Amino acid sequence: MKFGGTSVADLERIRRVARLVAAEQAAGHKVAVVVSAMAGKTNELVAWTDGAGPAAQGLPASDDEYDVVVASGEQVTAGLLAMTLRNMGLPARSWMGWQIPIVADDAHGKARIDDIPPEKLGAAMDSGEIAVIAGFQGVTRDGRIATLGRGGSDTSAVAIAAAVGGACDIYTDVDGVYTTDPRIESRARKLPKISYEEMLEMASLGAKVLQTRSVELAMAYGVPVRVLSSFVEPGEAPGQGTIVCDEEEIVEKRIVSGVAYSRDEAKISLFGLPDHPGVSSTIFGALADANVNVDMIVQSHARVADTANMEFTVGKRDAQRAVDIVQSMKGEVGFEDVRLNDDVAKVSVIGVGMRSHTGVAKAMFEALAAKGVNIQVISTSEIKISVLIDAAYTELAVRALHAAYGLDQL
Ligand code: ADP
Ligand code: ASP
Ligand code: MG
Repeated sequence: MKFGGTSVADLERIRRVARLVAAEQAAGHKVAVVVSAMAGKTNELVAWTDGAGPAAQGLPASDDEYDVVVASGEQVTAGLLAMTLRNMGLPARSWMGWQIPIVADDAHGKARIDDIPPEKLGAAMDSGEIAVIAGFQGVTRDGRIATLGRGGSDTSAVAIAAAVGGACDIYTDVDGVYTTDPRIESRARKLPKISYEEMLEMASLGAKVLQTRSVELAMAYGVPVRVLSSFVEPGEAPGQGTIVCDEEEIVEKRIVSGVAYSRDEAKISLFGLPDHPGVSSTIFGALADANVNVDMIVQSHARVADTANMEFTVGKRDAQRAVDIVQSMKGEVGFEDVRLNDDVAKVSVIGVGMRSHTGVAKAMFEALAAKGVNIQVISTSEIKISVLIDAAYTELAVRALHAAYGLDQL
């Protein structure tokens, strides 16, 4: 069972979580519970590291001490939930990432889990003790704390389920995965089931209900995942939530299953690049070396002979650093100008049905055109189409697309 920030936002909610955990154990299950920090806590911690840390000098903040600070929120909630369970007369103890251990690599701030030896945790659970695990954190091979990227408690939970051989229920502040973010489209519908692949795209394209890496892990290890609301009392019908499963298990197939958006991108434009082999390799090589993730990329001929223009997107947090890196290569690469626009959003439609149906892109462009939304960059894969637009039109675009594919009438 995993509970996110809003589900453990105060002591009253932690008591409700404890009741749900107790009911699960009473139903005969061995239970491990992964908790996030209280709502808003991680943001506060991140802001402190911004103030104190290297970011104050314009350097990347994601280092080992950043992780020491931001991992602390989960320690608090794990301790509080274990205490609450004990108050209810149930055997429980908290586990930090390093105590299990959840072994992670040393990419601080966005570490990946390498290994979870199941022995210690398994033995505790076999003894009937409820394991309350601090999400979001692991320990590197040389003993430092590492965090798994924002939203990483989902990944902790799926990884623990894979390690001890269980199913994973993600309890959150919505009662399942919807056709789009119910916060911006009230007509969004809950999906009874969604395939791992679609969920993976939805997550990586911005639907933060599950962290992308958690879906990858669930898919790789075949962990059954459900998304459920934590805002119910035990015994109250919690509903079925959404089951994330193999595509074959879904009978009713749709062409488009969902619309996702992300305001987390920034666009970098390069003008007047020399049009010869090796230019992209130099630029993106330098960005990769600096650990900057690049997402959409388009290149086109410029009007001046033998020159090209290029646009690409990076995460907002990395944007200024990426521009500085590119700028520092101006002499070597020989472009004319670089510009940053972080007032953009990426809106995407996702569906496995795209593999076999035509006209999905056409419907998307028509719906956006009808609302006067200009498209800056387009990218596609087998089961999704993404467009980059002016951030001011995000909601409008999401709603228009949601309607265009009939998702409000499921
Ligand atoms: P938690 O703190 O429990 O991890 P998150 O805030 O990370 O919760 O994720 C839940 C939120 O994800 C919801 O409140 C909702 O606004 C948002 N969300 C975005 N897209 C979707 C979607 N397609 N279905 C459900 N929720 C979504
Ligand atoms: N508390 C962490 C975050 O806010 C991890 C999580 O909630 O999953 O990103
Ligand atoms: Mg989350």
